[in-house]
This record gives sequence, C-alpha cells and structure tokens, in this order.
Amino acid sequence: MSALQELADLLFPNVTETPDDLEQRYPARQLPEGARVVRIAPSPTGYLHLGVLFTATVNFLTAQASKGVFFFRLEDTDKKREVDGGAADILAGLRQYGLVIDEGYEAPGKETGSYGPYRQSDRAPLYHVYAKSLLLQGLAYPCFCTAEELDAVRTGQEVKKQRTGYYGEYASCRALTPEQAIEKIKAGQPYVLRLRSPGDESRRVKFDDVIKGTIEMPENDQDIVLLKSDGIPTYHFAHAVDDHLMRTTHVIRGDEWIASVPIHLQLFRVLGVKPPKYAHVSPIMKEDNGGKRKLSKRKDPEAAVHFYAEQGYPADSVQEYLLTIANSDYEEWRRCNADKPRSAFPFNLKKMSVSGALFDLNKLNDVSKNVIAGMDADTVLEAVLAWAKEQNPAFYEQLTADLAFARGIFAIDRGGPKPRKDLSRWSEVPEYTAYFFNRPTEYPWPEQLATEDIRAILEAYPAVYDPAQDKQAWFDTIKALCPSLGFCPEIKEYKKDPGSYKGHAGDVSTVIRVAVTGRRNTPDLCGIMALLGNDEIAARLAAAAKAL
Ligand code: GLU
Repeated sequence: MSALQELADLLFPNVTETPDDLEQRYPARQLPEGARVVRIAPSPTGYLHLGVLFTATVNFLTAQASKGVFFFRLEDTDKKREVDGGAADILAGLRQYGLVIDEGYEAPGKETGSYGPYRQSDRAPLYHVYAKSLLLQGLAYPCFCTAEELDAVRTGQEVKKQRTGYYGEYASCRALTPEQAIEKIKAGQPYVLRLRSPGDESRRVKFDDVIKGTIEMPENDQDIVLLKSDGIPTYHFAHAVDDHLMRTTHVIRGDEWIASVPIHLQLFRVLGVKPPKYAHVSPIMKEDNGGKRKLSKRKDPEAAVHFYAEQGYPADSVQEYLLTIANSDYEEWRRCNADKPRSAFPFNLKKMSVSGALFDLNKLNDVSKNVIAGMDADTVLEAVLAWAKEQNPAFYEQLTADLAFARGIFAIDRGGPKPRKDLSRWSEVPEYTAYFFNRPTEYPWPEQLATEDIRAILEAYPAVYDPAQDKQAWFDTIKALCPSLGFCPEIKEYKKDPGSYKGHAGDVSTVIRVAVTGRRNTPDLCGIMALLGNDEIAARLAAAAKAL
C-alpha cells in the first residue's frame, strides 16, 4: 500500500465510498427545461432576520417562476455560535410568511426529499468521501500548524506588507510527505485538512453573477481549510459538496459571499463537478442621516422578523412589500393585477437592485393598508384575535367577551368597492376601536359652532334617531332636522349663502360623531351607531351634552 493510501485510511478509516458512488446515490434531477433548483441555507446562529427572509423570498420566487425546486438546508456546522431554538424560529418564520419548501430539513428527525440529509451536521460521512478522494489525488493535505504558528506567519506577512494567509511558500505543511504526516497523526498531533490550491494570484477568474453582472477577481491561491480539526467542514467545502450533491442550479445568497466565489469555483473544479450559477443579493439598506447604510441587526428593530409579528403586520403585507423591493416593477404589476396571486408575477433575478434595495417603513405601511383594506370582516377578526392573543391579552379578552360585536366593528366600511385604508397593522386596532368599548372623555367639537348650537343638536337628535335606518335614510334624518336648528340641509346651498346659517348638515353629523365617538374622523357613523345600539347612543348623547 502506498504511503498516501495509508494516510488516507488513517484519516478516514470509515470511508469506503467514492465520489462516483455518491453520483449514483444523488443523480441529476429530472426537471423540465429551465427549472431552477434553489435553496435557503441559514445558520441557526440567531433568530430569523429580514435579510434571510428576503433572500428566502427571492429563492422561493425563483423556484416558483421556473417551476423548479426550493429546498431548506440547515448549516449548523458552527456549534459555538448556534443559538437554542434558532433553527425552529427560522423554520417557523418561513412557514408563517408562506415560503413553503419543496424539500429539506423541517425539524429534528423530520425532513422530506431524496437529496438529504439536509442538516449539515448529519452529512459528515459525505464530506469525508470527497475529502478522502481529494487527499488521494494530492489535492488536499493535513496541516498541523498551531494557532500560534499561524499568527506568527501572519505577523511576519504584515511586517513585510505581504498578502496574509496560508499560501505558496507560507503553506509549510504542503511540503510534508505522507510518511511525515502519518507520524504526526500517530503521535496525536491535531490537524485540519487543507486544499492544495492549484490557483495563481496573478491569474483572474471571471464569472457572470445573475444579479451583479460580470465579475472578475484574482484566482484563489490560499490553501483554505476544508475540514476543521473535529472533522466538520468549513462553509466553503460544505457549500461545494452540498450544492453539487443536492443538484442546486442557482446559489442565491447574501453578497457578503461574493469575495469567496474564486474559492468556490476552484473547489467545484477540483471536485470535478459543474459549479452552479451565482446570484448575490445586495443587503437591504436604510436611509440614515441623509445617507444609506445596511439595515442593522443591532440598531434597527425592524431587522428582526419578530418585529412584524409583534406589530401585527399581516404576513401578506410583508411579502407584498418584499416583492416591491425585490423587483421595482412589482408595484405597477400589482396595480394592474389587483386580484392575482403573487405567484403570477413574472419575478426575475435580473431585475434586482445591484446597490441594495431601500427599506422604508412608511412604504410598508402603505402597502399593508391596501392589503388590509382588501380583507373581509372575518379575516380581520381572526387576524386581530391571533395578534391580540399573543401581544395584547387585555384587548383579546375585550374582543372575545362579545365576538359578534367585535366582528361588527370590523365589518364597518369593509367589503364595499372603496374600503377605508386606515389600518396598517393590528397593533393600531386597540386605539382605532377604543370608542366601541369606552365612552368618550374628550370632545373635539367643531370650533366654528357655538356651545348653545351644539347643545341644541344633542338635545333634538335623540328624538329622531332610528337605529333601523340605513346610511341614506340616516343622513336624510339629519338633513330633515337641520332647518329647525338653523342649519342648512345641503352643503351646496350653504356655500352660496353661509351667513344665513349656523352651519350645514355635515356639521350636525360631526357634532353627533364627536358626541358618540370622541373623534372627528371615524368610519361610517351610521354603522358605528347601529352597532353600539340605541341605549348606548342615548347615553352617549346625554353625557356629551352634560359635558358641554
Ligand atoms: N449559512 C450561510 C449563511 O447563513 C449560507 C449562505 C448560502 O446561502 O450559501 O450565510
């Protein structure tokens, strides 16, 4: 047996398979022409943040638009940075935002699809097959340098103003013979497995990024670590092995990885497999002090996806908004296709911003107002209850005490051709609906009216109010009351000769609105009054008159 074979067997005693065996086990996918196989591959190092949700959305849309596959891979190789419950939070978030996966990791012990396992910590045997094969081809070698030795090399490079890293003459373990390596291993020296990079810094690699266009960079010549001392792969190596075996066609990921593409292309080359296409998504930006900066997990509460649930933004609103920042022609498409599902939109990676889309909460609010305006009363009730149960238990109790009443509130001004667009998120609902549950304590009366005239309206109105009347009849009743109070029933008439009246029918209804709700602006007052009921209306009008 050759010394190299002996070294390979010493390093990987359990590996009996070859890359060819894995090719058989994970054959090319049978998909229609043009179908893209994409994935979201988060590390469970924190809770779901907007950047990951955005990238996942872009992947999901790409799969959907090409009738391809969207899968989930858990990249949990960095156990030190792993956060308890991180994976579950990310998965729950993706589900909540409708990003349904076709295959992948779903929970401990649960995954779907035939290209797994989809959790990197379950894939060690696969990485080792490739690692052993690279070693046997002379394309990888064990490195025994200690952290101190590597630091000393780096310092030396810095002093000499040279490129730092483990390459060329600095890659000292390159020179070890298999026999020397075997000896060190047998002596119990810890080691990592490094790539023997075939690259040359003076040569350039060129690739076409689907979003960013053609990019050229120096070739990689660093002998990067493939397997850490515990046998766990680095991101680079795992990416190449996984995305090859899972037959990913497009790697759509954050652009912090763009600088690593020369390493990745080289890895695919030494593995002897075709690289995927790359599409690097620019980070979501935020306006700050007149400038633009990346949305920050530390500084911006809206960077955490939990923020949207806490605020009560419907998942649909967030998805609609993410689409407007993903493809700038989405808004126009939505205007022309109000009733179509998002999946009908011709999403295209090529239309994504190269410099980074700007995140704007006001814009999200506008988008969300439209989304909420399109919901019917039952949908709103259900969503508000679900939000309140988690975020505002007192309000939840208030609503559930009388569900028919609660439904009545959300039915007002809803379902017609021109629904009101005044709610952007469920956290606005308690304040928005407060007067249904509490009598007003303040009365912002119209300034132009005299107290005596307000009093006269409040005293005359109870006798004519009929809760059975519809909107039209209700307003006709107010108009009919006007002459006896010195008000003009018609605004047009009033405008011709304002001096002859105390005000017009609109002013009378405002007085009633203020008395009943404590506000000058509300949805349909006739509906509000019908829901509150005759006794409550009588009591509120009397209380308002008394407070004058
Ligand atoms: N685990 C990597 C990250 O979370 C995935 C990058 C990729 O999509 O390849 O940044």
